[in-house]
Amino acid sequence: MISPGETIGILGGGQLGRMIALAAAQLGYRCHIYAPESDSIAADVAAAFTRGSYDDEAALAAFAEGCAVVTYEFENVAAPPLAAILPHAPLHPPARALEVAQDRVNEKSFVEALGGRPAPWAQVDSRADLDAALARIGAPGILKTRRDGYDGKGQWRIMDASAAEAIELPGKPLIYEGFVTFFGEFSVILVRGIDGEIRFWDSAENVHEAGILARSTVPAPPAIVAQVPEARALAAKVAEALDYVGVLTLEFFATADGPVFNEMAPRVHNSGHWTTEGALTSQFENHVRAICGLPLGSTALAARGAVMDNLIGDAAHDWAAILSDPANHLHLYGKAAARPGRKMGHVTRLVL
Ligand code: AMP
Repeated sequence: MISPGETIGILGGGQLGRMIALAAAQLGYRCHIYAPESDSIAADVAAAFTRGSYDDEAALAAFAEGCAVVTYEFENVAAPPLAAILPHAPLHPPARALEVAQDRVNEKSFVEALGGRPAPWAQVDSRADLDAALARIGAPGILKTRRDGYDGKGQWRIMDASAAEAIELPGKPLIYEGFVTFFGEFSVILVRGIDGEIRFWDSAENVHEAGILARSTVPAPPAIVAQVPEARALAAKVAEALDYVGVLTLEFFATADGPVFNEMAPRVHNSGHWTTEGALTSQFENHVRAICGLPLGSTALAARGAVMDNLIGDAAHDWAAILSDPANHLHLYGKAAARPGRKMGHVTRLVL
């Protein structure tokens, strides 16, 4: 067990690291942030900051020497250099979870092998592959980069096969996915302890706008809630197969034929931000408890429900108006510039 007072290392310097560091501070831990950027909003609330690249093995080893455990808030980190951490500190979740989750082909193959059902998909490395994928799967569909995609970036919607000709392929490994007809989207967020105990939070219904999460609502409508047990069973299998420690998120489409797996994130997730006020223990606190080997906290709802809205771009400038409603819980991430599409904060309201 890692005792309060010891240091937790966090790879990644964004808002997820910031919220993990805040939860860790409440439990008496110190956090050391490791990130390539010069100014980190996670480092703003942490005890120490190392600026380094994710493939600098010597810098990673020096960082890990001062940590009792290392975790990550960002999945687009190459896994092999992280081996430099292991002689000095455990890495939770394991690097294998990164390898699976950071590549859409690996992720879908892994989940299929465990009995999960993603959208029909095909690996696309050339124009001929794309033609073959369109012939087999049909349109509409979405062409996505296998790696480094987030918040709808690196995606091209293909409404019919002729539209595919106009797309200039980016020269990166791609995946083509058939378009899923869904009546809702939801996520399963679980925490798995070092002893293998798994707890789930209620599943939120997630609404995306322009590929970015806009709102998460718990409880989800009954038609989604009915699909949660099957989705949870898959998420638990993924966690067990990876010998996972920490918070894990799987996103699903709710369809007439049941839950269709979309993607996974080996970390705390935007669709779980409501847990800070809406659950007895937040995803951030339980992640810290899990990676430190502490008993897990209750994931039960703390109210009848909760609604979380992301503040994207200029929406965060309305902070004064948001605060004028005493029921709003405002979280601002301290980012300097409000670029369009950038997540600047979120607001949570409880249903009491
Ligand atoms: P992703 O980054 O892959 O999670 O995609 C972002 C959002 O785009 C998803 O949450 C869906 O709203 C939509 N989307 C992505 N892939 C598909 C698909 N195969 N079928 C339908 N909608 C999709």
